[in-house]
Amino acid sequence: MKENLNPFAIAQAQLDEAAQVLQLDPDMHAFLREPMREFHFSIPVHMDDGSTKTFRGFRVQYNDARGPAKGGIRFHPDETIDTVRALAAWMTWKTAVSNIPLGGAKGGVICNPREMSQGELERLSRSYMRNIARHVGINKDVPAPDVHTNPQIMAWMLDEYETLTDHKEPGTITGKPLALGGSAGRTPATAMGGLFTIRETAKLLNMKLEGATAAVQGYGNVGSFSHILGTNQFGLNVVAVSDEFGAIYNPKGLDPKVVADHLRRNGKVIDCPDTENISNAELLELEVDILIPAAIENQLTSQNAGNIKAKIVAELANGPTTPEADDILNDKGIYIIPDFLCNAGGVIVSYFEMVQNGYQFYWDEKMVHERLDFNITTAFHAVHNMAQKKKVDNRVAAYLVAVDRVAEAVRLRGWV
Ligand code: NAD
Repeated sequence: MKENLNPFAIAQAQLDEAAQVLQLDPDMHAFLREPMREFHFSIPVHMDDGSTKTFRGFRVQYNDARGPAKGGIRFHPDETIDTVRALAAWMTWKTAVSNIPLGGAKGGVICNPREMSQGELERLSRSYMRNIARHVGINKDVPAPDVHTNPQIMAWMLDEYETLTDHKEPGTITGKPLALGGSAGRTPATAMGGLFTIRETAKLLNMKLEGATAAVQGYGNVGSFSHILGTNQFGLNVVAVSDEFGAIYNPKGLDPKVVADHLRRNGKVIDCPDTENISNAELLELEVDILIPAAIENQLTSQNAGNIKAKIVAELANGPTTPEADDILNDKGIYIIPDFLCNAGGVIVSYFEMVQNGYQFYWDEKMVHERLDFNITTAFHAVHNMAQKKKVDNRVAAYLVAVDRVAEAVRLRGWV
């Protein structure tokens, strides 16, 4: 049978497995299988050439039982409503496993930002916000950046929201520039959080992090900071990195400064000095201690999972592993740090950003990362202990912790 790569079908299948282990009440299970609310809209944008192009936008508020919904907005040509639904579901489990008082949401626009001018992107971003302004706010739903959106886009969206509502409410959007109330340490937070979970895993496996080899797929925000911080603060030897155009490899290790300079000049990591070009597929199958998928969904499938040689797979991307691949990797004894635990650092620091905006009092990066460490390390051990107690794999364990917390909030509210 062909592997089902629809991300929402995968998210539902993962929930179904956890529901079975939890013996979740069937009515609760049915409620948690679907998003609570969805907004679909057309966004006409006046383009620089005088034409008007209509883009399709979505916002999915999957579940807000534990607090205001929370989740990023993606601008991507291959965006689909099912991708947004899956990511919104994973946000719900992510905020719950991290034990922060928020629900889960996600947004997206089908567009190719690489082909758009800054002016076109600003008009698209402001118009996206006009479509969802009534449904977002610090006590309703708080967007943030995700793939191909950034602090500038968040600044335009916040400005549009505050203009429409005629008051200042910076906590409505996170991942803002520092000058508009962003948090210190937010940009590297996802990678930093993932590295804290890798550190905890290494302790459990008696693996020395200093000199441990790693391969990183994807060189955007998360991938590049995994390389920089992994090398400089955790002593990892990152031997391969990649972007959508291909991968580079040097068994002696890659200097993050050299890769960053090369990328700035050439727009791709391939052909970097002192490295060998390899394919993304080859990167995933390298003989390394730690594999860090930090790009897009469905990278580890039934086709390649049998060839993965890493001891730890740290899923910094959302949904990089299909359920079939999961079974294969678990059978091989590979320690998987599941996505909504491994990459929770971003939303944890986004939550800190909301808290700081509420108090109008700001912390320094050291304090942000210390609190992040405490929060994600606590979540990591809750999941690890659950896996041991219930004799399930880490992904199922993460679902058990998260679904139980969301179900409790739903029950207490009397919804189901
Ligand atoms: P980004 O847009 O900054 O970077 C994405 C990177 O992936 C780019 O280098 C791109 O070239 C590369 N890429 C795209 N397709 C690829 C392919 N087929 N093979 C190899 N590389 C490919 O995005 P990001 O913010 O770094 O996010 C990366 C992943 O991490 C996504 O799955 C995202 O949902 C997840 N994530 C991000 C955050 C965050 O705070 N940014 C938080 C949680 C999860």
